Amino acid sequence: MRQIDHFLVGGVPAASRFSDIMDPNNGGVQGRVALGDKAVLDQAVAAAQKAQPAWAAMNPQRRARVMFDFKALVEKHMDELAHMLSAEHGKVIADSKGDIQRGLEVVEFCCGLPHVLKGEYTQGAGPGIDVYSMRQPLGIGAGITPFNFPAMIPLWMGAVATSVGNAFILKPSERDPSVPNRLAELFLEAGIPEGIFQVVHGDKEMVDAILDHPAISAVSFVGSSDIAHYVYNRGVAAGKRVQAMGGAKNHGIVMPDADLDQVVNDLTGAAFGSAGERCMALPVVVPVGDDTAEALKAKLIPAIHALKIGISTDTEAHYGPVVTAQHKAKVEGWIQKCADEGAELVIDGRGFKLQGHEEGYFIGPTLFDHVTTDMESYKEEIFGPVLQMVRAKDFEEAISLPSKHQYGNGVAIFTRNGHAAREFASRVNVGMVGINVPIPVPVAYHSFGGWKRSGFGDTDQYGMEGIKFWTKVKKVTARWPDGGGDGSNAFIIPTMG
Ligand code: NAD
Repeated sequence: MRQIDHFLVGGVPAASRFSDIMDPNNGGVQGRVALGDKAVLDQAVAAAQKAQPAWAAMNPQRRARVMFDFKALVEKHMDELAHMLSAEHGKVIADSKGDIQRGLEVVEFCCGLPHVLKGEYTQGAGPGIDVYSMRQPLGIGAGITPFNFPAMIPLWMGAVATSVGNAFILKPSERDPSVPNRLAELFLEAGIPEGIFQVVHGDKEMVDAILDHPAISAVSFVGSSDIAHYVYNRGVAAGKRVQAMGGAKNHGIVMPDADLDQVVNDLTGAAFGSAGERCMALPVVVPVGDDTAEALKAKLIPAIHALKIGISTDTEAHYGPVVTAQHKAKVEGWIQKCADEGAELVIDGRGFKLQGHEEGYFIGPTLFDHVTTDMESYKEEIFGPVLQMVRAKDFEEAISLPSKHQYGNGVAIFTRNGHAAREFASRVNVGMVGINVPIPVPVAYHSFGGWKRSGFGDTDQYGMEGIKFWTKVKKVTARWPDGGGDGSNAFIIPTMG
């Protein structure tokens, strides 16, 4: 059976525990990944400690050149990586390429790191005194990542952490571990020194070892909220810098003046694309007014029926299977729950079978109307191809829904009214806002991060927030006395008498 091991310097110890890698397209097991422990982490940390000082001392443009070469290598291997990713995750190839591409954009940002690492300088802060600051790496950092973006999220963290001079240890999701290992190989090929980008695989045992390890200064986590909160608390208690991004329940507000054809097009992609397994998916739509709701529903139903579900290599498919049988059962459980809670089940995606792939983890697109805020299925993240319609009577009610929700990752408003959009963006209590943009993931030179239970810690991912997270600022106050005896002639060229 195919086995994925840790990506370490100095050989890989034999593992005694493993996790199955499932085949979402066909069901069943396609391989296994080694689950590491503290001893594996100690080996990674020792290699990181050995390599990091020289890497940090290298001038920043040389580290940037590694990022340039890495970017070129990933582009060269794009097809191979996308197929590897789709085979374990289940998302269609075009989506896998998007996953890799969005990560590469952060690598591209890191190619300009000499510029962003520049410090600040004040000349003459006092008599003969200058003050300056410099950004220095933390030493060793770790990243713990979810299954749903196995290329993008490791690159959000790993590219920024390493380019500024840290050694980075990645603990990816055990569900789709192959791409992270391949990225580590490509980093080495691009010239990153051994020990600067390593991968350890594992479950809670490895996560706890990372959180408790005294040599690891910072931990960046992305995953579900309860675990994000746990990671944040345990890491901070151990004196580390921690950022922990959590789950989401993003709302799309549809104003009465919105272009409904555009909304339907955007919504079907944002609610059902990647089988809804995106933290920036739009699983809740909020039409403002019953007329808007009825008009939207009338257009949405045929658009949903027209969606094609297929295996991840089917280039015609809009989306593929969900990641595991357990996740499929969980999503179908939420569909039942939402129906039991009294919502109108307009389209039921349960029981969907793809011919020739009957054991695959497919779920048909599902639409609910008349979902209300007291329902558990509204309060919690479903993370599947399920769209819940919550009707709002007016703009004020619409803005209050995402603002009061426990999650605050992303939100979108669809309107032709600039004032309403501006008001919404300024007042809504959510971290990332789209105006006529359904999945507002900021570009790499801005930063990514949600609010409330979608993000614990002070800094966002990538962009300048990422640079801040992965560096510490040293402040230098320097006084250079004139050295000229009584100080009156310090700048006169000495003469020979
Ligand atoms: P998850 O929380 O199950 O796993 C995330 C990581 O935590 C994995 O590496 C996993 O091995 C580890 N882990 C699992 N159980 C653990 C435990 N008990 N203790 C310590 N570590 C543990 O998340 P997932 O199912 O892989 O990913 C989906 C979730 O991630 C969704 O909730 C989604 O919204 C969220 N997500 C959030 C963002 C964001 O930026 N806010 C981005 C992507 C995904």
